[in-house]
Amino acid sequence: MTLQKTIKSGFYLEGIGLHSGKNVRVHFVPRNDNQGIIFQRVDKPALPILTNIHAISDANFATIIGTNGTSISTTEHLLAALVGLGIDNILIEVDGPEIPIMDGSSSMFVDALLKAGLQALQSEKAYVEVSEPLSVKDEDRWIALYPYDGLKVTLTIEYPHPLIGKQRLSLEINPKTFTEEIAYARTFGFKKDLANFYAMGLAQGGSLENAVVLDDDQVINPEGLRASDEFVRHKVLDLLGDMALLGHPLRGHIVAHKSGHALHHKLVHSLMGEKERWVYRNATDLFLSDRKPPLTV
Ligand SMILES: [Zn+2]
Repeated sequence: MTLQKTIKSGFYLEGIGLHSGKNVRVHFVPRNDNQGIIFQRVDKPALPILTNIHAISDANFATIIGTNGTSISTTEHLLAALVGLGIDNILIEVDGPEIPIMDGSSSMFVDALLKAGLQALQSEKAYVEVSEPLSVKDEDRWIALYPYDGLKVTLTIEYPHPLIGKQRLSLEINPKTFTEEIAYARTFGFKKDLANFYAMGLAQGGSLENAVVLDDDQVINPEGLRASDEFVRHKVLDLLGDMALLGHPLRGHIVAHKSGHALHHKLVHSLMGEKERWVYRNATDLFLSDRKPPLTV
């Protein structure tokens, strides 16, 4: 029997927001069984946000969650760390509109969470378990879900760039593989797109400290890549983070081709809407995927 997990003790983490460029402080707080992953803005009066389908707000180059006019951006790398480590219940308090970008990967979140220590709770872990295949597509981008005894991701990316081209990764996901093979992979972008981002008010805090930047044929960062296929590894990280929006850990095999946040969100909506294609394993009265705001904690 696998038990639900939280963290042993609370801690703070600070860093700048990728899009706002402002410093943000995050407080990680342990929670009890069946509470889920909850975000709370503490810089203004706001209701807590439970991470599930009802919290999906936008996918403008990041996964933005929110309820009742309050939102928190760039949650995906932190959510990936929680999903990757198998943390079910935690409160994330943040004093700004986005989660800090840290080094552009999940590494610093994973390190801090592991340093705080993980704590098993009393209740059995509940899952959204895929029982029938399902797929979503958007032009040449698609994602398919298949029944699988565990969690596995097979992902392909294709970029017309000499350093990326076509990259594919297929990996069984558990805390060990996530920590060793996925968590370190940084977000990446192209120098030619940066002017547009700045003009749109995005990426104000972006730098070579928190993103891999490519010009027409190479990586600009002096330290280079952390792996030749760091790009596909980061896309796996993003996908895992977005699967937190199911409200429970997923059991299934995700096969994705050129997917991004918008398509991940479409998958979550599609799966939640087709209840004959999945089962809720270890059901309790509190089905986190269905809980709508407002929420009290
Ligand atoms: Zn990302």
